Amino acid sequence: PKRIVVKIGTSSLVLKNRKLNLRAIARLAFVLTDLCNRGIQVVLVSSGAMGVGIGMLHLKDRPSEIPQQQAVSAIGQSQLIGIYTKEFAEYQQIVAQVLLTRDVMLFPESKRNVVNAFKAMMGQHIIPIVNENDSVSVDELDHQTSFSDNDELSAIVTEIIDADLLIVLSDIDGFYTGNPYKDPDAVLIPEVHAIDADILAYAGGSSTQFGTGGMTTKLNAARRILEHHRQMILANGRDPEIIFDILDGKEIGTLFT
Ligand code: ADP
Repeated sequence: PKRIVVKIGTSSLVLKNRKLNLRAIARLAFVLTDLCNRGIQVVLVSSGAMGVGIGMLHLKDRPSEIPQQQAVSAIGQSQLIGIYTKEFAEYQQIVAQVLLTRDVMLFPESKRNVVNAFKAMMGQHIIPIVNENDSVSVDELDHQTSFSDNDELSAIVTEIIDADLLIVLSDIDGFYTGNPYKDPDAVLIPEVHAIDADILAYAGGSSTQFGTGGMTTKLNAARRILEHHRQMILANGRDPEIIFDILDGKEIGTLFT
């Protein structure tokens, strides 16, 4: 592929004890810089702002009030981007923070501006690091999904920058016939061609503490990807070097194609 989007979930970035998974961030910086050096244009969509903020402030859980959630997320985002900047700098790789609201996509002019900004960055071998602008995007009707449902955001980014492939890194090896944390008989599905009722029935929510969407939002992202005739791979982000194997064409995770 010439251009890829990599989405990394909170579950891969924040450890169970709420500390940052520095190893994953450091490896991600190494892998993505290497791809960039080899001429592949890369955009990173990173969740984790809320999880990092919760850890920094030593909170037990995410706050229940929306303004407090926004504050925690804003704190976590600046910390997270600081660490990314430092890790990528290890390899002389420049990154840029892009905070998007979903309504940007609804207006042709703002969408065009966003696309042009992405192009300008990628043209200069800069890796954009994207997150939803949590402190602006509050969908009052549905707060559950307005926060950090970066799965769908990553599919939108894939579409607007015309990338060939979206790699979604999570804490699980792929898409199973049920939630493997609850159903020991669940088996991995290597390839999915359509998001039909059978597939939707397999998807459950997140069973990790800070994970957000679970499989439902990942399938929404996959649906969008398939509609636009692109590919998505869901794989385990435990070791981000898995991205090399994916691009080498090894059979890893679940391929939506
Ligand atoms: P992330 O933070 O990486 O976005 P989530 O925690 O939101 O990850 O989603 C991944 C989780 O989805 C898995 O750890 C698992 O508990 C849950 N899950 C539910 N249904 C399935 C399924 N059919 N296949 C795989 N995982 C599933």
